Amino acid sequence: MSFWKTLSCLKSPCEILNRRSLSASTALRDQHNCRLLVVGGGAGGCSIAAKYASKLGKNRVIIIDPADRHYYQAMFTMIGGGMKKLNQSYKPMEDVLPKQALWLKDKVTEIDPKKNEVTTEKGDIVQYDYMVVATGIELDFTKIPGLLEGLKDHRSGVCSNYSPLYVTKTYGCIQRLDSGNAIFTYPNSPVKCAGAPQKIAYITADYLQRNGRRNVNVLYNTALPVIFKAPKYATSLWKVAEKKRVKVNLNVDLVEVRPDKKQAVFKSLSKPDETFVQEYQMLHVCPHHCPTPVIAKNKELSDSVGFLNIDKGTLQHIKYPNIFGIGDCTTLPTSKTGAAVAGQLGVLRRNLSAALEGKTPTAIYDGYTSCPLVTGYGSCIMAEFDYDTNPLETFPFDQGVERRTMFHMKKDVMPILYFNLMLRGLWEGPGIFRKIMHFGFSK
Ligand SMILES: Cc1cc2nc3c(=O)[nH]c(=O)nc-3n(C[C@H](O)[C@H](O)[C@H](O)COP(=O)(O)OP(=O)(O)OC[C@H]3O[C@@H](n4cnc5c(N)ncnc54)[C@H](O)[C@@H]3O)c2cc1C
Repeated sequence: MSFWKTLSCLKSPCEILNRRSLSASTALRDQHNCRLLVVGGGAGGCSIAAKYASKLGKNRVIIIDPADRHYYQAMFTMIGGGMKKLNQSYKPMEDVLPKQALWLKDKVTEIDPKKNEVTTEKGDIVQYDYMVVATGIELDFTKIPGLLEGLKDHRSGVCSNYSPLYVTKTYGCIQRLDSGNAIFTYPNSPVKCAGAPQKIAYITADYLQRNGRRNVNVLYNTALPVIFKAPKYATSLWKVAEKKRVKVNLNVDLVEVRPDKKQAVFKSLSKPDETFVQEYQMLHVCPHHCPTPVIAKNKELSDSVGFLNIDKGTLQHIKYPNIFGIGDCTTLPTSKTGAAVAGQLGVLRRNLSAALEGKTPTAIYDGYTSCPLVTGYGSCIMAEFDYDTNPLETFPFDQGVERRTMFHMKKDVMPILYFNLMLRGLWEGPGIFRKIMHFGFSK
């Protein structure tokens, strides 16, 4: 970050004088001051910063994120299925973040909501009037013994679409399948895109059917007691699983991977203390996820699990009215997806603007989320639902059915929408289209 960039975000000569202060260790550290601080430059952070960067003026919005690349993670499923390349899924962070905002390429390590300030890994201090927290959710590949070793070994058959480090391994694993088991797992913890672990199972089954490989058993082993949270789409997915010959095992949790023997150890959640071993040729793992440490360790800001404790309607922090949250890092009891982030953006914009003007936030988020459940090379069930898992479908036809149009929507339209509209602050979910397509008779 250049000196002049930093300088121009400061408000007064006094702040300029305070720009560098001596810490206890006598090291020089930068001080910044802003109207709006956005922590995290992913789907939620980048999009909300874009809405305010020009409105509030040059460098009055500061974004902090240590990442070099901004990934469109929703594309990972298509990469795993060999339908997209990894380099289509990301852009350099500096190319997506709004130019009017100041980007600090750093990580927030401490948040002091009483002083309205955060500290970064490099030791900078940033003071804010308002803050939006958008740090996402972390992956923990270490929780399952043997998993990391398996992922790092190119011949192990172990893969995961969840990380850009391993997603390119998946398609090779699918192509090599000729016999035995292809196992797909879902862990016993909250995850982002809860549909992703089974989408890749259906894509694999479709690949095998198209290539006449009948000797492979496809197993979807999930720790959940249901195939999918929203009942309407669960009914559809049971039919897809049957048609594609995917054997679904509920209430089973992957607890160990033995890459040398190509064995996976599962614990039965319905019969405590019972474990069993399955051999695999391919093992696709959805890892355990955990809340971002900077939020989890902050008891003022987080709930007992470690997520940012915000009001499920207004997205405002329950204790600190100048703090808002968006996306995967929050306590919002909906499915953690980029589509949910889009649905939250309009509510956050309205409520943050109200707060900035000293008014009370009144806009309410209904829990809208969406999961494009890709079921093969050319088919998709477009699940859309609210907090109560009631369908909130955009199109005037039954979205519980596999459709080619929805597949192209997911594969071809959504990436354009994401990079060109959402990240520029111009997309707040399909609510407006839903109303139009249902002649105003939808929520
Ligand atoms: C395999 C897979 C498939 C998916 N499929 C879909 C799909 O089909 N449809 C869909 O809608 N969604 C899908 N998603 C989910 C979607 O990508 C996420 O829900 C979405 O990106 C969440 O946005 P976010 O802003 O909350 O977090 P993210 O986009 O993950 O961004 C978080 C950002 O915070 C930064 N950060 C973290 N900690 C700190 C810190 N301490 N200080 C500063 N910055 C920090 C990170 O570097 C990151 O840039 C999928 C995800 C995966 C992994």
